[in-house]
Amino acid sequence: MGELRAFLTTHRARAPYRDPMERRQDYSEILGQVPESDLAAQGARCMDCGIPFCHNGCPLGNLIPDFNDLVYRGDWREASDALHATNNFPELTGRICPAPCEAACVLDINDDPVTIKQIELQIAERAFAEGWVVANPPSVQARTGRSVGVIGSGPAGLAAAAELNRAGHRVVVYERDEGVGGLMRFGVPDPKLDKAVIDRRAEVMAQEGVEFRCGVDVGVDVDPAELRGRHDALVVAMGAREGRDVGLAGRELRGVRMAMDYLYQRNRAVARMLGRPAPPAPSGAEEITAAGKRVVVIGGGDTGMDCMANAVREQAVDVTILDVYPELDPVTGRDARHPWPLQPKRTLSTYALEEGGVRRWGTQVTELVGDRDGAVTGVRGRAVTGTSSADLEPVPGSEFEHPADLVLLAVGFTGVERDGLLARLPLRLDRRGVIADRAYCTSEAGVFVAGDARMGASLIVHAIAEGRRCARVVDAHLSNRRAHTDDREQAGADGPEASDPAESSDDPALDTAL
Ligand SMILES: Cc1cc2nc3c(=O)[nH]c(=O)nc-3n(C[C@H](O)[C@H](O)[C@H](O)COP(=O)(O)OP(=O)(O)OC[C@H]3O[C@@H](n4cnc5c(N)ncnc54)[C@H](O)[C@@H]3O)c2cc1C
Ligand code: SF4
Repeated sequence: MGELRAFLTTHRARAPYRDPMERRQDYSEILGQVPESDLAAQGARCMDCGIPFCHNGCPLGNLIPDFNDLVYRGDWREASDALHATNNFPELTGRICPAPCEAACVLDINDDPVTIKQIELQIAERAFAEGWVVANPPSVQARTGRSVGVIGSGPAGLAAAAELNRAGHRVVVYERDEGVGGLMRFGVPDPKLDKAVIDRRAEVMAQEGVEFRCGVDVGVDVDPAELRGRHDALVVAMGAREGRDVGLAGRELRGVRMAMDYLYQRNRAVARMLGRPAPPAPSGAEEITAAGKRVVVIGGGDTGMDCMANAVREQAVDVTILDVYPELDPVTGRDARHPWPLQPKRTLSTYALEEGGVRRWGTQVTELVGDRDGAVTGVRGRAVTGTSSADLEPVPGSEFEHPADLVLLAVGFTGVERDGLLARLPLRLDRRGVIADRAYCTSEAGVFVAGDARMGASLIVHAIAEGRRCARVVDAHLSNRRAHTDDREQAGADGPEASDPAESSDDPALDTAL
């Protein structure tokens, strides 16, 4: 463990975020690094608990006390090995994971938790700087001769691809956008995650043998049936991108746009600014810009916050987030339903609010208003009480009108996109609008699912964990098929096709894979 009783004498250090007034002027990352000696002292705060609840708090089961201790001792190489043992992309989670591990840290009961996420980030960056992250492709002998097509290159698809390639299968990732990364590239803004960080990892994966085919919209550019013929298995990691719309009067007004459309445009604009490949800027009615406008964002989650950060950088006149939910206790975020070691229901006080802009809690928009030319001029709303959409109650006499030239709708997602891929590959969906599965197997034999497409909109740490678990199921499925084929060939038998092990409820390979 770290230094005995260091948690009694050393306090948690604040994460090294850049000054909000400085960083709102640019698109560079907002989170920096701390000197390694300071980080070692933070690592020493880890109590090496008998039962490390942080393991459970982390959906990847990261070996947190181990790497805390290794950083304390200055053994960065081994810390990197420990970190990469459970997490394919710690440089990504180290930047943008909301760190449920820290909420589960035993110190969080009556003190501040260990700075696990910062330690993770700096181990990952040190590993790249030292050249420890190098391509480690499977040997020619370890190649299985099987091939897997992965549809979607978000964190789930990338993790599945990395693991399946490592297991010896040939992996091709099909991505409809011009670059890999999914929502990490086109949702999350550069100040949270520099896209060069994604490219750096994708480059290593490509050197290991993963083939990336960007600009291929499966279901539009290529028939999924053809892909099923081309590969022994398919992993659908298409995300859950169907944006929830609002059925409000005035929805058709010019200047009322879906938040994800705005974020895609902004991420591409920044890519162009930084000389990365991106399609030409949209013009006319297609263009969404906040520059010189009064902006209202409806919805106060991650998407709404990222819209606010972009609008501030575009020099909007003002930016207001209208959040239907009430303000929570900002100190602990813990109520009877969120006791330790669960993730507290924290007030989403994010980087974006520090940089400018206002959030109004407990406000429900009832109407969008516009001028005679059909352009939006504002929103009407009222104050509400209640904690969920089921129990919202309007406050009498609280009606208000708020001016806006641009209204961005960031009220969540309703599941997977139904056109394109799913119109031609009719996978069964469940009640939540995501792809129904049993242990990552979809309703179609040989087609698997991972990430938001299976769970609904979530977090990158969950998506990476999903990709890893799904890869184990696919690997077991392919290995069993190979074993069955080998057996049949050995016996010279022409018997009936062996049943697909991944579909049988008592499949031992599947059980052990999970
Ligand atoms: C604005 C925003 C900010 C967020 N911020 C954070 C954050 O700070 N921290 C965090 O942990 N999580 C955050 N999230 C959530 C996180 O990004 C997602 O949970 C995660 O990216 C899901 O990963 P995924 O691989 O399942 O899907 P996605 O990232 O959605 O990737 C799916 C990929 O599939 C591709 N695709 C879809 N259909 C096809 C097709 N037919 N053919 C080829 N390709 C296809 C898409 O283009 C996309 O690249 C944020 C989400 C949003 C929207
Ligand atoms: S991936 Fe997220 S939850 Fe896991 S150790 Fe890192 S910061 Fe914590």
